[in-house]
Amino acid sequence: MDIDQLLALVDQLVEEGKTLDKEELIKLLKELRQACVHFKEQATVDFLTGLYNRRFFEKQLETAIERAKREKVPFSLIILDLDFFKRINDQYGHVTGDQVLQQLARLIKKNIRKIDIAARYGGEEFAVILPSTGLEGAVSAARRLKRSIENHNFGLPTKPIKLTASFGVGTYSPFANWSATEFLDHVDHLLYLAKKRGRNCIVHEDIAIQKSLDLEGLSSEEKRALLNGVWDHDD
Ligand code: GH3
Ligand code: MG
Ligand code: MG
Repeated sequence: MDIDQLLALVDQLVEEGKTLDKEELIKLLKELRQACVHFKEQATVDFLTGLYNRRFFEKQLETAIERAKREKVPFSLIILDLDFFKRINDQYGHVTGDQVLQQLARLIKKNIRKIDIAARYGGEEFAVILPSTGLEGAVSAARRLKRSIENHNFGLPTKPIKLTASFGVGTYSPFANWSATEFLDHVDHLLYLAKKRGRNCIVHEDIAIQKSLDLEGLSSEEKRALLNGVWDHDD
């Protein structure tokens, strides 16, 4: 039964008082369940890459913030954006561009932990929430991702396509009292700095400052100024 047939049957049951025997009812419930699972997946998953979509990501970010505050444990966020991706579309076409994004999604999945939440945040921009992870752990995850992208051939063996990405990495301090939007803006700003500093690099907060800071009582502008980006020199 397709979804329109299912809805018509439900209407008949509700509005016209149609009755079903036990077997028919079980069949209907199974079909409704299957439809719910399908639409739930559509609502949370990005159709192109199979990663979570932006809407689901934003909900998960809110949940991570609530948990961080409740349990007084930080978590981290990586935002990465492919460098000069427009050129890939221009040079090889949109279909290849889409395949590159699918490969990138697989690379991201391969390089993070099961409990990390990877999402396609925008066109060629991806975000990873790393639960219970401090800045050092997040920076090493970003380094791993950066290297795996650099080393990957996104094209054919005979027709290689090489790409790089830029990274912003931030850690949510349970004491900072940042909203999800403020934190996202902050990490997005670090990504912007990575682009400005020439791309193919990671910009993160200063680990020393991050560790020693109690950010409570500061305005979001003051927090952002203190946690301004550090270029990752180890990569
Ligand atoms: P930068 O290094 O500054 O990030 O440069 P860029 O070219 O990656 O960034 P820009 O924002 O100029 O272009 C992004 C490109 O991503 C343009 C757009 O066509 C492409 N894009 C966005 N979503 C998709 C998609 O779903 N499939 C394909 N094939 N391309 C996409
Ligand atoms: Mg880009
Ligand atoms: Mg972009």
